[in-house]
Amino acid sequence: MDTHNIKRANLNQLEEGVETHFSFSLSTEELTSADCSFSYKSPLKIKGKHYKTNDFLIIYFSANLEALRPCKICNEETSLPIEINNHTIAQQIDEIREETFDIQDTIRSYTLGEIPDIIECNNGQCPERASIEKYLKK
Ligand SMILES: [Zn+2]
Repeated sequence: MDTHNIKRANLNQLEEGVETHFSFSLSTEELTSADCSFSYKSPLKIKGKHYKTNDFLIIYFSANLEALRPCKICNEETSLPIEINNHTIAQQIDEIREETFDIQDTIRSYTLGEIPDIIECNNGQCPERASIEKYLKK
């Protein structure tokens, strides 16, 4: 069970049903440059495996990172842990136009897609919530 730093699946080299393991991480700088509006507290760490069936490229992975997002109420930058456990992506091979398939980029966009758009600090109990609610009642 080798772990390779493989970021793309080479469809011509994969044998059907033979699993290839991968593990890699994307630095906070790499994450920010791909998604320039946000910052991150920890790198994105990914590990998993991929294999080919008749029609599909199967990517099976776990990933975690800590994102930073502004609180919707006080605007304070809040750290947000994202954890993905044993997720499977099945990519139809017919739809892959190139010889290789970008595993890293696919997992990166999936994981970043799991980050909620709107967050509130202090586990949903922003200290400034009370003052805003008072203001709304007037
Ligand atoms: Zn807040």
